[in-house]
Amino acid sequence: MAGQLKDKEAYQRLNYLYQAAHCVLSQNPENVELARFYCFTQKTIARRLVLRQDPSVKRTLCKKCCSLLIPGVTATTRQRRKNRKTRFTVVKCLLCGQSKTLLNNPDYCLWVDRPEAQLQQQKQPDRGPSVKNQPKDSDPDKSASSTPSTSTAGT
Ligand SMILES: [Zn+2]
Repeated sequence: MAGQLKDKEAYQRLNYLYQAAHCVLSQNPENVELARFYCFTQKTIARRLVLRQDPSVKRTLCKKCCSLLIPGVTATTRQRRKNRKTRFTVVKCLLCGQSKTLLNNPDYCLWVDRPEAQLQQQKQPDRGPSVKNQPKDSDPDKSASSTPSTSTAGT
């Protein structure tokens, strides 16, 4: 998967902002607003460019007020149980009170990690002009580069 990444600079920026938020909180845990501003900017960039953030990042950001959730600093983490078997981890934001509930399931597999998702990702870059079907005489014929690009049936 080491191909060319489409929005590399945007991802670098997201990464920088996320690390900056951590850095701010580690140096001064009371400077919550600055960390929140960084995470808010991060979220705005991701939304504008429709970039999918990693679940590990997404789980540490408050859905409501965009603050960085660090257990013991900006969030509380509690174990809850529904019945004997199902247990949850509840992460509550101390700024706005919004809580995330995550099921405790060690066998849980994220969609990204499943083999089906990998297949779907590999299919996507094949949309370009197929080079394999062209004759090997290699004419510099650039007029044949128009391809039907409307392949997705979106609404
Ligand atoms: Zn919050």
